[in-house]
Amino acid sequence: MPRQPQPGRQHRSVTLSDDNWEPGELIAEAMGTTRSQLVEALWAYFMRRPGAELPERPPQELIDRADAAWEERKARIRARALTLPCPSCKVESGPCLAGKAKRPTNTMIHRPRLIKAGAEIAEEERAAETDSDA
Ligand SMILES: [Zn+2]
Repeated sequence: MPRQPQPGRQHRSVTLSDDNWEPGELIAEAMGTTRSQLVEALWAYFMRRPGAELPERPPQELIDRADAAWEERKARIRARALTLPCPSCKVESGPCLAGKAKRPTNTMIHRPRLIKAGAEIAEEERAAETDSDA
């Protein structure tokens, strides 16, 4: 369960690309901060708040490592998603079907399958972490 925000703060919903947001978690953690703190700092700077400064940019090596980890994770999520039934186009496994004519595709996977696959993998990682902590 996510922590409750402090008074005067609340969870916001913004749309960001997976390819920037997901590897950013590892980068932020390595730099001793969080994605939320970085967004807060950037927004304060954008709003010209007194004392607001741009956050330090990560070294390219860290970005490359985080991007590579995200690419590997994306591939695992896609591979898992292809084994799940799709609630959108009703395919049982394999690539999704596209359009009203439900034409086969080579690579498309509807977002609900990707979300479910990502959640399954994250849950397995949490379980493995708990096991190794014991
Ligand atoms: Zn589908």
